[in-house]
Amino acid sequence: MPSPTAPSTSPDAAALPRATVLGYPRIGRDRELKRALESHWAGRTSAADLAEAATALRAATVTRLRDLGLTEPSSVPLDFAHYDQVLDVTLALGAVPERFAGLVDPAASTPLGTDVEFALARGTAEQPPLEMTKWFDSNYHYLVPEIGPLTPLAYRGSSRVAHVREAAGLGVVGRPVLVGPVTYLLLAKASADAPAGFRPLDRLDEVVAAYALLLADLAAAGAAWVQLDEPALVSDLWEVPREEVTAATERAYAALTSAAVGEARPRILVAAPYGRLGCAIDPLLAAGVEAIALDLVRGELPAPTAPDGTTRDLSGVTLLAGVVDGHNVWRTDLDAAAATVAALAGVAGGPVGVTTSTSLLHVPHTVADELDDASGDAGRSDLGPATLPARVAGWLAFADEKIGEVLAVAAGPEAAAAAFETNRAALADRATAPGVVDPAVRARAAELSADSFSRGPYAQRRAAQEAALAGLPTLPTTTIGSFPQTPELRLARAALRRGELDAAAYADAMRAEVGRVIALQEELGLDVLVHGEPERNDMVQYFAELLDGFAVTRNGWVQSYGSRCTRPSILWGDVSRPEPMTLAWATYAASLTDKPVKGMLTGPVTILAWSFVRDDLPLGETANQVALALRDEVADLEAAGIGVVQVDEPALRELLPLRSADHEAYLDWSVGSFRLATSGVRPETQIHTHLCYSEFELILPAIDALDADVTSIEAARSRMELLPAAAGFERGIGPGVWDIHSPRVPSVEELVELLGLALDSVGERQLWVNPDCGLKTRGYAETRASLENLVEAARTVRSRV
Ligand code: GLN
Ligand code: ZN
Repeated sequence: MPSPTAPSTSPDAAALPRATVLGYPRIGRDRELKRALESHWAGRTSAADLAEAATALRAATVTRLRDLGLTEPSSVPLDFAHYDQVLDVTLALGAVPERFAGLVDPAASTPLGTDVEFALARGTAEQPPLEMTKWFDSNYHYLVPEIGPLTPLAYRGSSRVAHVREAAGLGVVGRPVLVGPVTYLLLAKASADAPAGFRPLDRLDEVVAAYALLLADLAAAGAAWVQLDEPALVSDLWEVPREEVTAATERAYAALTSAAVGEARPRILVAAPYGRLGCAIDPLLAAGVEAIALDLVRGELPAPTAPDGTTRDLSGVTLLAGVVDGHNVWRTDLDAAAATVAALAGVAGGPVGVTTSTSLLHVPHTVADELDDASGDAGRSDLGPATLPARVAGWLAFADEKIGEVLAVAAGPEAAAAAFETNRAALADRATAPGVVDPAVRARAAELSADSFSRGPYAQRRAAQEAALAGLPTLPTTTIGSFPQTPELRLARAALRRGELDAAAYADAMRAEVGRVIALQEELGLDVLVHGEPERNDMVQYFAELLDGFAVTRNGWVQSYGSRCTRPSILWGDVSRPEPMTLAWATYAASLTDKPVKGMLTGPVTILAWSFVRDDLPLGETANQVALALRDEVADLEAAGIGVVQVDEPALRELLPLRSADHEAYLDWSVGSFRLATSGVRPETQIHTHLCYSEFELILPAIDALDADVTSIEAARSRMELLPAAAGFERGIGPGVWDIHSPRVPSVEELVELLGLALDSVGERQLWVNPDCGLKTRGYAETRASLENLVEAARTVRSRV
């Protein structure tokens, strides 16, 4: 076992603070970063303007964290990224894929600028961007590194170094946060030109050598500690076998802790958020990292013995107890958290600190922004009237409040008696509030039988649907649901919220938009039309606002990817549907055309995944409550003559547990809830579903089990590489041919080529032609041009099959 060398930092900064958080929202309390990025991308501001805005935001964040009580050295995390923390490592390593090589001077070893950063993130006129996918089981998306045998991997400088200096200028010793080397490589995909069998992890040693230089740079800038996030260690869903991950972890961290890599380095805190670290702690202990942060919300205390029977020696390491949930919004049970910290101290040999289970990236900034003036926070009158019932707000802790919780737990129940008292009262209030349990909802759930979860045989349904939808060509074209959310639509919604537009005028404006969207689709020649979802602020929040049991926030924004944010609803009580939610829009759209119009609902798993879910009822029970509400909506649509209904489940993959042992139980309830929502219909009603990601293989059995008649999935960026796995899948499938995450318009030839690739794996009677996802974030110029090409490509391929 390599012996760790004492890093050359000043002694007072050597101990890790008693209280810290693993990360903080980056988008800004008023989404300052979003505005700065988008105006820069739109060409309204310069790179210097963007840099100035980002610097100001970082300064505001550091100051706020200090003011909230993170005053000890190294307790303020420095995790700012313009776009994505995984992309930041790609930039630091210069790991630019070949297709962008023209943007980079290979001879120079200078840091890469925002031009390269945004080209990788958003693509260029010629080149598609890096693929984007979900970060562990969250709704945050990262940019997938593409690593081949020849991809450059040499340290080019990291923005974190400047961030350490900036914080120092404010009198704060910050703790830079970076994705760790093992997680970085496990999240990477082999580049298209890599030989078969190549794995990004094969290049670990070069990556570690680059990290060593980065650590030296951070130390020179004054960082006493660095946090390397290694969430990959809590998962076993990697192609690389577990033993190899373990070996790679030990090798990487042994190298980073050894003196050979540099004179000085910050002490290393490895964070293992999003789950149970289990025996993946052993290589970290063996390598001699100075501190490990454990997720004790999802995970558990380290066992006293390792799998090989030896006693685990925890005496040389600082352990941080992640007892405040970074992933959900409920107040922490402080007494329980303090007990967990005490239990960890019992098994630990060294110092113990308190932290969050994950970065606070996944929660909004502050509950204070949800309260009316009574809170004395009069500065937020710009946010409009409060939307969250004050009683529900009393049960919540967002990022700033969670910092208070971490500090309270670290101080303990005596020193922080008032905080513990308030906390107990809030928890007791929540447990007994009306609506948390609705007897009618519980009674209906208790009556479900196996029949409630299944439709008839597919062959029968297929024949019935072919007759009912006789006008459809082979390779039918459709879209995923939303059309561009234009500035006019957003303005109308804002005016409605402010009371400047009444409900009737708002509905008229939305109906007019539906009319335009239907007319456009007819003009373009699409086959199965949609109403375009103009009335939906968000595909989950729209339903949350109409269902009982949910509350919505007014400023609870959470970063989804890049500058995109969502405002998750809060599911706090039993769920039911007071009245139809989508019926009027679908029937109005259908009245404007002779073509089939697809009804559009969000599925139960996605509604849960993209909301903050209650933690006092098993997820499966909550999912079935939502499913029953949706089942009633599907029945209403069918009765009104809507013959095609899409129930989106883009989050099915996202909630998949990170350990395979937990999959069966998850798929049981998640697939069950989708089937409960969709199996009340007649055979001739065609049920579609849509999923947003490309890791198809892992979840194919689940997609199959959903039993939808047609499934659309994201496939354009990965060039259909998922489809061979679908051989044997007999129902309809629509692999996306247009990557809607960037404004780039795909050419007809490109689309024809992708459809050709698709036909290598799926039968022509199965294939649907559609974009990767909804178009709400796109503009009309590229939407029209791309859909024109899509229809043209479908015609071309259709004439050949
Ligand atoms: N129907 C939704 C839309 O088109 C689906 C979006 C999604 O899957 N994320 O916007
Ligand atoms: Zn999608």
